[in-house]
Amino acid sequence: MKLILASGNVDKQTELTRIFDSHSLIFGPEIGNVSMPKESALTYLENALIKARAFLGHADGNPIIADDSGISVPALGGAPGVFSARYGSDKTGRQLNARERNELLLENMVELTGSERRAFFVCSMVLLVDEYRFFTAQEIFEGLVAARPSGEGGFGYDPVFFVPGAGCTVSELDAAGKDRISHRGRAGRRIEAILESLHAEP
Ligand code: IMP
Repeated sequence: MKLILASGNVDKQTELTRIFDSHSLIFGPEIGNVSMPKESALTYLENALIKARAFLGHADGNPIIADDSGISVPALGGAPGVFSARYGSDKTGRQLNARERNELLLENMVELTGSERRAFFVCSMVLLVDEYRFFTAQEIFEGLVAARPSGEGGFGYDPVFFVPGAGCTVSELDAAGKDRISHRGRAGRRIEAILESLHAEP
């Protein structure tokens, strides 16, 4: 089935291409005349819906998939949370890049030890079928924020997210290992099951 992926994020495109490997994904930027909307809501779900809806009318009747995600540290009051992609800025107001965001998170957690370093990723995924018909799955991936970054794989906060069950950071997992346990892998498999049930509908 053709699916429109309402994301310009290349790392998400890579993961979702693996997760939805039995479908043919058309990436948002390949569709002309649609600019990615501002993620102005305060919940992952609403932001995912905003992204998906931006492609309504440009999807040629194909289902649209959008993902909004982030990392939360309960000991930091849930930060960075829904603002994970925009966590911190420098003195000139420039938004930090991924490496700098990881450094900031580690700095903000320097006093925290043991279970205070608990964190979880969230992925809210929306399958928009038409204007008034959509399905959602929101999943999490639990772990600890490591003391320092480690590993080369993945993206974003992966180098500082330690998975106790695997004994390494997400960046040190291979792609299939991440997909098996990640927030995005879990949400994607739920959406995949919904797609199959829709396909089987009379
Ligand atoms: P958004 O969903 O486009 O708002 O961006 C979410 C941000 O959360 C990304 O830019 C990453 O910084 C972070 N993030 C989301 N999922 C992951 C992941 O699987 N690994 C590492 N960082 C992630």
